[in-house]
Amino acid sequence: MADDRPNILFIMTDDHASHAMSCYGSRINQTPNLDRIANEGMRFDNCFCTNSICTPSRATILAGTYNHINGVTTLATPMDNETLTFPKILQDAGYQTAVFGKWHLGTGPKHCPTGFDDWAVLPGQGFYHNPEFIFKGPHGGTRKSTQGYVTDIITDMSLDWLKQRDPDKPFCLLYQHKAPHRPWFPDEKHEHLYLNEHIPEPETLYDDYSNRAGAAAAAEMRVGTHMHPLDVKAEIPQHLSENERRKWAYQRYIKDYLRVIASVDDNVGRVLDYLDETGLSENTIVVYTSDQGFFLGDHGWYDKRFIYEESLRMPLIIRYPKEVQAGSVNKDMVLNTDFAPSFLDLAGAEIPESFQGRSIRPLLQGGTPPDWRQSMYYRYWMHKANHNVYAHYGLRTHRYKLIYYYSEACDQPGAIDESYEPEWELFDLEEDPYELNNVYHDPAYARIIEELKDELHRRQAEVQDTPVEEKA
Ligand code: CA
Repeated sequence: MADDRPNILFIMTDDHASHAMSCYGSRINQTPNLDRIANEGMRFDNCFCTNSICTPSRATILAGTYNHINGVTTLATPMDNETLTFPKILQDAGYQTAVFGKWHLGTGPKHCPTGFDDWAVLPGQGFYHNPEFIFKGPHGGTRKSTQGYVTDIITDMSLDWLKQRDPDKPFCLLYQHKAPHRPWFPDEKHEHLYLNEHIPEPETLYDDYSNRAGAAAAAEMRVGTHMHPLDVKAEIPQHLSENERRKWAYQRYIKDYLRVIASVDDNVGRVLDYLDETGLSENTIVVYTSDQGFFLGDHGWYDKRFIYEESLRMPLIIRYPKEVQAGSVNKDMVLNTDFAPSFLDLAGAEIPESFQGRSIRPLLQGGTPPDWRQSMYYRYWMHKANHNVYAHYGLRTHRYKLIYYYSEACDQPGAIDESYEPEWELFDLEEDPYELNNVYHDPAYARIIEELKDELHRRQAEVQDTPVEEKA
């Protein structure tokens, strides 16, 4: 009997913020092929990561658990490849599985991909041009260099694998791009895009970090000021004022960011075309996401890490004609912990008790279970490292965001052991959607702060995390 379980095509990019996707209303670019997925499926408007940084979010997506459970709290904690992940469960259930592209969960026998029939991944961040890959093989795989542009190569590998698979068995393919991660080197085909255009600036490009906790001003991720010359492919003019540098560097880096996304969009189009041409579209769940959001000049920043909206928010669009109404939009709170249980649910496999997320299949079918979450817990562990972002945890509800910068390393690998006075922030997202005004000390919010703290601690206990000793 034919196996009619759905195929899963999981497309993930690195650092692609949803406000650079036209299906999310981008003011700065067009992504016609990604829009096909949204137009023919469901767009999730409130999908959040639980720790906005590459390696940890990837571990959460695969393992369905928070980082204090899977052990991947920072960039210095590669994932143990004996961790239970959704591809392993699907492989055991008879799925053909593969991953191509960005892995970023470690290399070598203990950290290379497992649970995949085939794989080829970039070592660490990898390169945009002529990248080296690690191909599946003994002792953690074999390194070989390739010729060409990384986004095209990852797509070719994915298409080649789809073409040689056994058509009588379902597949789960993780098609994972390096783009649009720093340092944004476009291919020849797209390097002239936007050349004489002015890209609209975000509302908060000239943020001065007043009315915030000290963490915002301390962060070293300001466009221009804290960038590397490679980010803008030029020396940064030091004679300019800070705001002038932001204005100049924003145009330089955002254009390259959008150019590398244009290549992703073209290549996703090639894969969608292949599904159409081979009759696979109907029974294939196509997912597009990115491991976290990114500041696109918002708050004057690039990078991510903060629980602030642009970094917290992940793009998530899913097409599955059998169960999802075309052009639908969901506003429920979805987390990166939900991905693994959702894929297992859709494939008819059992969801392990140890997974902490919840299947979004009912949301895909157009409903919202009455007990669906109304708040979410977030924790950034990598205190100070790379961009001087202080360690924090927090709670987001549909209206409020409560943040506690506990600002210490807590013995986390990769974090810098230098502590600061802890601080709280509260944002009323209805009154202040850009998070410019911390109202934690406003007496009008005293009661809501108490409620939010209770909810924060309830969520922490639920996911088995431990709060630090908090000051008032
Ligand atoms: Ca990332």
